[in-house]
Amino acid sequence: MEIQVFGVRGLPLIRQGDDLPGMICELVAFEDGDILTVASSVYSKAKGLTRDLESIVPGADAVRIAGKTGEDPRFVQAVLDSSAAILLEDPFILSELPFGHIGVRAGVDHSNIEDGRVILLPPDPMAAAAEIRDAIDRISGRDVRVIITDTCGRAFRRGQTGIAIGWAGMTAIYDYRGDTDLFGHVLTITEEAVVDEIAAFANFVMGESHEGVPAVVFRNCHTWKGHDAVYFTPEEDIIRAALLKEHKK
Ligand code: GDP
Ligand code: MN
Ligand code: MN
Ligand code: MN
Repeated sequence: MEIQVFGVRGLPLIRQGDDLPGMICELVAFEDGDILTVASSVYSKAKGLTRDLESIVPGADAVRIAGKTGEDPRFVQAVLDSSAAILLEDPFILSELPFGHIGVRAGVDHSNIEDGRVILLPPDPMAAAAEIRDAIDRISGRDVRVIITDTCGRAFRRGQTGIAIGWAGMTAIYDYRGDTDLFGHVLTITEEAVVDEIAAFANFVMGESHEGVPAVVFRNCHTWKGHDAVYFTPEEDIIRAALLKEHKK
């Protein structure tokens, strides 16, 4: 069967306290096995995971870094507050979040929210995805898979793409190791980051500005087996180690 992809249209501006799974279920007749992708921005707005810049008093580090990046020191403080480790300060802050994701400005986002406020990434995106999946099961009785996405820059290449920051009902990685190719060669390396591939296409369907499409459904996607160890361990991550070493100088 062909994979179908459709954006969820008709959602209002999301506010704290909104029942996002309930609102999505009003608009989508889910089928078992569907993959629902949800922009982290709307999950966080529904949960009140936002901050008023006015309420933030920047510390000395935030003021120092803001002097280099040219950003609002209160915004920089919000980024520092979201970060577990700083890998780079300028030309932009690159940091590691407590849940393992490494990204620019810790994913703190001032698009698609009122002036003077920022959206934070959910602190536990895996639990967030599981919560949406359970809610949809409760409301519709359908067994869907869920991916929470964010738009991120990439190392080595210009241009942002969607990535998966949380998922439920599937593994992050499709582990092909042990499988044979068309010529019977055993694959020994290939671990495909399927959740990121789906998140990237979902991000394309969502758009980045005033489209108002914060959720996308994928229907008829096959299933796969693998694992969730998508973040390198500190020993494995040679680029993180090099950046940390440079930052500590
Ligand atoms: P992010 O990638 O998670 O930071 O989310 P974006 O800010 O890029 O938004 C992704 C999509 O969701 C775009 O189509 C936005 O227009 C849309 N969007 C963002 N916030 C809302 C909202 O509160 N309501 C609706 N209906 N769409 C929103
Ligand atoms: Mn945004
Ligand atoms: Mn974002
Ligand atoms: Mn986006």
